[in-house]
Amino acid sequence: MKIHEYQGKELFRTYGVPVPRGIPAFSVDEAVAAARQLGGPVWVVKAQIHAGGRGKGGGVKLARSIEDVEKLAGQILGMQLVTHQTGPDGQKVRRLLIEEGADIAKELYVGMVVDRGAQRVTLMASSEGGMDIEEVAASHPEKIHKVAIDPVAGLTDAQADDVARKIGVPPASVPQARAVFRNLYRCFDETDASLAEINPLILTGDGKVVALDAKLNFDSNALFRHPDIVAMRDLDEEDANEIEASKFDLSYISLDGNIGCLVNGAGLAMATMDTIKLFGAEPANFLDVGGGATTEKVTEAFKIMLRNPKVKGILVNIFGGIMRCDTIANGIVAAAKETHLAVPLVVRMKGTNEEQGRQILKDSGLPIISADNMADAAQKIVAAVAGR
Ligand code: ADP
Ligand code: MG
Repeated sequence: MKIHEYQGKELFRTYGVPVPRGIPAFSVDEAVAAARQLGGPVWVVKAQIHAGGRGKGGGVKLARSIEDVEKLAGQILGMQLVTHQTGPDGQKVRRLLIEEGADIAKELYVGMVVDRGAQRVTLMASSEGGMDIEEVAASHPEKIHKVAIDPVAGLTDAQADDVARKIGVPPASVPQARAVFRNLYRCFDETDASLAEINPLILTGDGKVVALDAKLNFDSNALFRHPDIVAMRDLDEEDANEIEASKFDLSYISLDGNIGCLVNGAGLAMATMDTIKLFGAEPANFLDVGGGATTEKVTEAFKIMLRNPKVKGILVNIFGGIMRCDTIANGIVAAAKETHLAVPLVVRMKGTNEEQGRQILKDSGLPIISADNMADAAQKIVAAVAGR
């Protein structure tokens, strides 16, 4: 789960990671009131969306007067902000962070991730902050310093100081950088984060170390331990279909193609998507209905797939193991009727009760195209969507 920058900064504050003074705003009036409360002379108006690269996309702007704040808040609120992380459609800005302008002498980078290979939380830091860290990693890998943190000892003072020096923190500021790294690790560990990133971490003109950005992702499997973090969830930032699917215990992920797929089992779902691609088309989604799909669940799955206007055909691929093909067939027929299905539907079913399943589809009188194997099914749906 992701949270906004302003929420990340509130968490940082409680863990002793210094951040600029700032106030979130949901309207232009609130932005102006926030700026007044903070006082001048310089403010930064920052779009709050769950994606980075906002600065480059025009979502982070400097204001030198209250009138500026008002004007910029009006421009940024409601805009469709496109960054390299949002995709071409961008993300609508519904929240702002109004922050005091910081005196930036140097922009650094610090991040933490769970390194599965090392089975450790790894601290990464670089003197090259403020820019795309993936680019630095590609062109100047020697400028990224890594430390694997021992889960028992935690991040030691010696490790923290060593990293601080390597990224060019001047001696007088090393104790502050040490505190930032150690507090960031405590925050990461205690909140069950999967990613924590401060880009940029700045050195101010008077040698202070401050987090100017805050990106935190949390391990969804641990959220039951953190109701305070769950309360920060912003559903506007998530795919509406994926939220709907999660209510019915369906694993659904939106994709860019035009063939909806309904499959049982994640592996079979992946293989089905590959097969569609092999025959020259693109899947519109990943959808695993799981092992215990009921008629209701299949109907919901159809509704969710069909809510995507790009879907021009549906491929159902079921392996009947514990799941019986006749149950699925009843679900398909009910779903097709309830949704007034108007796009071609190809069904491939194998396994338990497949004969009964096929009979149910045939008896329904619906124009369902039967397929014998995966290649046959994929070719049939690709042809039907192409109007062949
Ligand atoms: P993003 O990473 O999404 O582009 P950031 O929060 O990192 O957004 O902001 C982009 C840039 O804007 C920063 O690298 C920094 O140069 C500048 N900036 C951000 N916040 C402030 C601030 N409070 N004061 C001065 N400059 C800022
Ligand atoms: Mg940033």
